Amino acid sequence: MLETMLSNLDGMVYRCRDDAQWSIEFISEGCVKLTGFQREDFMDEGRASLESITHPEDRLWVRKRIGVETAKKNRFEIEYRIVRADGEIRWVWERGVGIFSDKDELQALEGFIQDITERKQAEVALREAERRYRSIFENAIEGVFQSTMDGSYLAVNPALARIYGYASPEKLILGLSDIRQQLYVDPQRRAEFMRLMAQHGSVTNFESRIYRRDGEIIWISENARTVTDSIGKLQFYEGTVEDITKRKSHEAEMRHQATHDVLTGLPNRAMLNSHLQQSMQSAQESDSIVAVVFVDLDQFKLINDSLGHQVGDELLRTVAQRLSSCVRETDMVARQGGDEFVLVLPGQQDQASVTEVMQRILDVVARPWMIREKEFHVTCSIGVSLYPVDGRDVESLLKNADSAMYRAKEDGRNNFQYFSQSMDVQGDDRLQMLVSLRRALELQEFELYYQPKISLADGSLIGAEALIRWHDPVQGMIAPGKFIPLAEEAGLIVPIGEWVLRTACAQNKAWQDAGLSPVSMAVNLSPHQLNHDLATVVAQVLSETGLDAGWLELELTENVVMKDAEKTIASLNTLKALGLQISVDDFGTGYSSLSYLRRFPVDTLKIDQSFVREISNDLDSAAIVKAIISLAHTLNLKVIAEGVETTGQEQFLRENGCDAVQGYLFGKPMPAEEFLRLLQAS
Ligand code: C2E
Ligand code: CA
Ligand code: CA
Repeated sequence: MLETMLSNLDGMVYRCRDDAQWSIEFISEGCVKLTGFQREDFMDEGRASLESITHPEDRLWVRKRIGVETAKKNRFEIEYRIVRADGEIRWVWERGVGIFSDKDELQALEGFIQDITERKQAEVALREAERRYRSIFENAIEGVFQSTMDGSYLAVNPALARIYGYASPEKLILGLSDIRQQLYVDPQRRAEFMRLMAQHGSVTNFESRIYRRDGEIIWISENARTVTDSIGKLQFYEGTVEDITKRKSHEAEMRHQATHDVLTGLPNRAMLNSHLQQSMQSAQESDSIVAVVFVDLDQFKLINDSLGHQVGDELLRTVAQRLSSCVRETDMVARQGGDEFVLVLPGQQDQASVTEVMQRILDVVARPWMIREKEFHVTCSIGVSLYPVDGRDVESLLKNADSAMYRAKEDGRNNFQYFSQSMDVQGDDRLQMLVSLRRALELQEFELYYQPKISLADGSLIGAEALIRWHDPVQGMIAPGKFIPLAEEAGLIVPIGEWVLRTACAQNKAWQDAGLSPVSMAVNLSPHQLNHDLATVVAQVLSETGLDAGWLELELTENVVMKDAEKTIASLNTLKALGLQISVDDFGTGYSSLSYLRRFPVDTLKIDQSFVREISNDLDSAAIVKAIISLAHTLNLKVIAEGVETTGQEQFLRENGCDAVQGYLFGKPMPAEEFLRLLQAS
């Protein structure tokens, strides 16, 4: 019975002597399955012994362990490898005991050996898996954590410690014991985290700002889930943490870049438009006014060109700051490009409050500013349009504020103009004037005055500028500054301009025919005329009047020349081909890039009066005038200064090599008869 019981055991039972070979006294049938040897093989010093089947590498320690334990009369329990009859290596577990004689001598060993290879392999696999996971945990770039519901950590990896600014995972677990209070910049995030966990059992890409150990604030993204036990009870949270600060700041930067001007940090045109749109909407609801303000620096161009871009940039930044300081939180100051700024002032109750802001802007911009220990002065011209009276969409409000700004420039700069008032003449008056203006040509109410141009080299009279005058039967003489803009708007400038051209050419030809020494005749052109097949008209007028093209000069303002440069270059080239002269009027007030200027077929730069006027009082203006003269000469252009009123100004211009002058000092614009006397005298 014992024999059957033993043979049914999964393993083998043995009794052996304590000799070198552990000679077997008994071995159960299980040895066949376990070792592949027959029972006989173990008997009588057969081909197998317990010693021989023990894996050679394990023999020594196995014997030693058994020796030690049995010496202490302990049971021994060991795991080691055996080599089966077929050479296969198996893991076995053995438990045994020493059998002692009455005299306490070790007589034999009895024990049981069982195959545990499968369990061993599973253990190894487990250890390997465990090692692998640990390695992922330890070496992950992402932070990994297990945390409790009450907000402390159970385990974290080195990456999380690094992200949160702790020297080691242990220090983090100790130091960060209240996640809600210590971690999140906004403690509400913890509540939100818990809520999502309760609701969905997980959070994904949960982005929050957190404090690092040193107090620095960073952005993290968490992915986490709840871990529950077998009966579904929540055990802890487990998740990963990624430091997304770089990405966040990059995103913010991209957003900022898309909506802001790099140089000044102000909102850009795109942002301005959407802001204005919103402002109009809320103005409609609250029945208030939105002011759209165009601010343009008066001397920027020249500062930029004469003192360099860095100074120009500095100036723009200064102006940006100053403008921002003039307005409320709800207002927007945007950079439109170049030296143009646009302000949107919503929620205005009346024009008076807007006027106050405009005055403030003029003052604050005009405050001197220092750069490189030098003091500079800039002024600006401002145009204002009001929603809803001057326009009901972004485009027309901007356009109208822009044209009001031009009016401010024409009005001598350093001032502001409201769009609706920019005509000086309003409402009925304006309409009335328009009616009269339409008939003025027919009724021959226009007259040309001529202003002399003088060569600084020898004081000789070299030319005339034709300037239009309107004798309105009711209002008397009206200055061109008042009606030319109206004529431009009403499309009347084309026929009027043609009349000026024809009259001036005919006059010049008449003087020449009368035997007077020939001079050049300058005619002012409006931008609108450029678009109307001007070259054909000019050619026709020249041939009709018989004036040689060389004695005709066309004056175009700087902004006209630079606007839509490619098209203008083409038109000017066609004009030049006729053989006439072209000059850039009001030079210095616009934005022409000097490198650009080179590409325009122009002959003369006309320094704007505002600089000439300030020559003796303002160092900047003097520097600007000098710069224009030397620039013009570098580009092989002639320079004429206009608005010369004093001998001091003349002196300065002469000393700095200016070619010619024009101004009250040499003669005001005068009727043809009067100019004739000048010609005769010269
Ligand atoms: P602009 O072409 O810059 O003409 C120079 C203006 O300065 C003229 O004013 C002239 O009288 C004035 N001026 C000349 N010397 C002096 C001076 O020493 N001191 C001062 N304070 N002013 C001086 P005006 O005649 O009133 O013309 C104003 C503007 O009207 C012109 O500026 C020009 O842009 C426009 N304009 C005049 N005639 C015509 C024309 O026939 N066609 C077009 N399209 N525009 C014209
Ligand atoms: Ca002119
Ligand atoms: Ca001028």
